Amino acid sequence: MLVVLNNKCNFEKESFKKYIKELNKITTANEVVLCPSNIFLSDVKLKRKFLGSQDVSKNSSGSYTGEVSAKQLKSINVDYCIVGHSERRLNNRETNEDINLKIKELLKYNITPILCTGEAKDERLNNKTKSVIKKELQACLKNIDKKEKVIISYEPLWAIGTDDIPTSSEIEEVIVCIKDILPNNRVLYGGSVTEENIKELNKTNLIDGYLLGRVSLYPKRVKKLLEEIK
Ligand code: PEP
Repeated sequence: MLVVLNNKCNFEKESFKKYIKELNKITTANEVVLCPSNIFLSDVKLKRKFLGSQDVSKNSSGSYTGEVSAKQLKSINVDYCIVGHSERRLNNRETNEDINLKIKELLKYNITPILCTGEAKDERLNNKTKSVIKKELQACLKNIDKKEKVIISYEPLWAIGTDDIPTSSEIEEVIVCIKDILPNNRVLYGGSVTEENIKELNKTNLIDGYLLGRVSLYPKRVKKLLEEIK
């Protein structure tokens, strides 16, 4: 299983050092990707874990103040990158077209994109979940070879940071829909996953892994969760 830890905008220098010390004590057969704040990417020393970024620029290089390119990420051994997280779509007005350009940049430098997709609550209530996801996937992956190893993370917007979570069968239904379009891609679930509800989620064998937000900040909780999915 693949487990992605999205630290978001958390930790400062000293607290991050302590966090890494604890995280590095965890041994697991699962593939773990840590996505810390960009400021920590270049000198974090990870044991048995991979390094991911939370975002990337859609531009290769040049006059783009504040941005970090895929080429720069590759130069510091970043292997994975989250793209299209709902917080970026919402707070930074990122469009599917922007995300498509970002994915193309990442693939150019052999960084595996982790593409987030998911419906809002009203879209679910109006039975639009599958059509929203199909539309997002089509637009974000436009002109990208289906053989490319893009990882998809199904993240219902209403489940992120809320403790509200779809049932396993609701998640399965969406994953089947994603795998119909992309049969060879790994599909993760993200949104209020905890060391408690993971047992139930893990009963479905369609989920290839999980993306963790809040829980990622607590190594003890991450350890427990990883033990549940070994
Ligand atoms: C996320 O931000 O993608 C996420 C899954 O967060 P949380 O686990 O806190 O819901």
